[in-house]
Amino acid sequence: MSAPDARASAGRRLTVFLLARKSTLAGLALFAVVTLAAAFAPVLSPYDPLEQDLNRVLLPPAWADGGSAAHPLGTDPLGRDLASRMLWGARLSLLISVASVLLGGGLGFIVGIVTGYFGGWLDAVLMRIGDVQLAFPFVLLAIAVLGVSPERTPAQLIGVLGLTTWIVYARVVRSRVLSEREKDYVRAARALGASSARVLLRYVLPNVWQVAPVIGMLYLGFFVIVESLLSFLALGLTPPTPSWGSILADGRQFMMVTPWMPIFPGLAILLTVLSINLVADGMADYFDPKLMKGYAPRHPLPPRMAIASDKVLAVRDLTTVFRLGAGVLTAVNRVSFELGSGQVLGIVGESGSGKSVLALSIIQLLDAPGAVTEGEIVFLGKDLARVSNAEMTGLRGRRIGMIFQNAGSSLNPVLTVGYQLVETLRQHLRLNSEAARTKAREALEMVGIGDPDRVLRAYPFQLSGGMQQRVMIALAMSVQPALLIADEPTTALDVTTQAQLLERLDELRRELGTSVIFITHDIALLADFADVVMVMYAGQVCEIGPRGRVIREPRHPYTQGLLNSVSRVRAPGTNRLSAIPGDPPDPMHPSTGCPFAPRCAYAMAVCREVNPARTGVGPGHEAACHLLTSTPEAVAGGGTS
Ligand code: SF4
Repeated sequence: MSAPDARASAGRRLTVFLLARKSTLAGLALFAVVTLAAAFAPVLSPYDPLEQDLNRVLLPPAWADGGSAAHPLGTDPLGRDLASRMLWGARLSLLISVASVLLGGGLGFIVGIVTGYFGGWLDAVLMRIGDVQLAFPFVLLAIAVLGVSPERTPAQLIGVLGLTTWIVYARVVRSRVLSEREKDYVRAARALGASSARVLLRYVLPNVWQVAPVIGMLYLGFFVIVESLLSFLALGLTPPTPSWGSILADGRQFMMVTPWMPIFPGLAILLTVLSINLVADGMADYFDPKLMKGYAPRHPLPPRMAIASDKVLAVRDLTTVFRLGAGVLTAVNRVSFELGSGQVLGIVGESGSGKSVLALSIIQLLDAPGAVTEGEIVFLGKDLARVSNAEMTGLRGRRIGMIFQNAGSSLNPVLTVGYQLVETLRQHLRLNSEAARTKAREALEMVGIGDPDRVLRAYPFQLSGGMQQRVMIALAMSVQPALLIADEPTTALDVTTQAQLLERLDELRRELGTSVIFITHDIALLADFADVVMVMYAGQVCEIGPRGRVIREPRHPYTQGLLNSVSRVRAPGTNRLSAIPGDPPDPMHPSTGCPFAPRCAYAMAVCREVNPARTGVGPGHEAACHLLTSTPEAVAGGGTS
């Protein structure tokens, strides 16, 4: 993406976000008004804020008895125009607060980045200085420093506020850098020979900077209050410099005579801080959409009477989209299938074909901003797309189990395997600890672990990858779910362990009668394991049918391509491996025709115009390809090779 395109895309995303977040928009509008008033105070102020007129002291505001339009907010005890002092007070308050944020934030950000990335003695020294500083209450420190100064200028206040808060930014940024620098993509960059400066600037910095402006905005509101508080206590700007805090202090003295006076600065502080907090809240969500709700909020679907099914799971026209700033990405497009009791449905496709999003849609654990927008997911008579969150929580883990690809990151590293298994069993089966522990041991034996007591005592990181995945299977199967979704559970394992696990999973499925959705990118794995094979491409089902038919008589060119690319189950009539040319389509820019057309050797004119519908090609066997419905002439004339 070119720089102008990237800017346009970021602008679109921001616009969409602001239109959806009315509170942030309101905060931004209010803050803009305060900022503009402060910026144009010299022009907007009807009087010099320091100009005294003892003939007009304590005049009421224009709308009260005795007030005049010449002094819209009245005058103070020295006859100074309150409106002018409020505007100049806003100017100084914002100036001091913004400059303090830049000083503290800038210093803290640099310290956080350097100490987090390089560590060593510099980290130790700077963090201990920060610890000492944090031991003093911030406001008391500010009061102690400013209290001894006879003349307090904006620069002094900025210095005190900024230099006493740098450590907060430094701590937060440092912890983010510490976590980021250990990630695989950073290690990979270092392995490729990237210098420290390059890794820091190109890899770490882009992933941690977002936290600084959010903390900065929160501190901005805090500084507005602190600046006013210091002025109220006569420790802020030296009088007669206008400040909301000093107007508040004057108002308090004459409250019995001029009750309106403290209201203006009080209201100004309240609205300014409120607007800043609303913007800060919005910024946090904008930089990390997951903060909005954790998992994606469920899209309200129109109520619909679920079509009765004798199957364990019946998915119909399921559509899942991600609403991104640059547009709508359809990750799962009108997918339909059924799964009988004890059956295995193997879902296969390249990365990005929508397999995992389909699984997360079924179990209703999509990440923001994904949402199921159409279709139904009928599981044992209940439409999961429409049940309440509470009902869904009751089904997850108990009736529907899920195994993820990386068992190491799916198990809690700070709890023993035994604790995690016992907790799960107690929660779902309402067992006492003794019974749950016995069942946990049995569950480990069930997945072929010969020394269950040792594994129960172990932490996940003390186990091998294969053993961790066995534990995950034991966790999921110990409660005998009706449906198990296994999302590439053996991808990270060696071939021998993979075969052992699949064999055990298959035995368990037969023993317990659990239906299984097995997701993989390796079609060869399904050759012995699945009852039904479903091939996905670009979020759509391109072929589905009994394993024997799909593997031996593939009808869709994509399925044929997948089979030709693995040695174990090559399509009939082929004697050498061949890769599918090209790449999957960009999901942000789907075509109206067959999504496989740009890579298909048989593509015809109609393929680029019309997306083919699924057509029956045998008992329980369907494929979506124009080749299956076109005349021989069209096929002969349309192929590209
Ligand atoms: Fe190929 Fe056309 Fe069939 Fe798509 S519809 S797979 S492009 S022949």
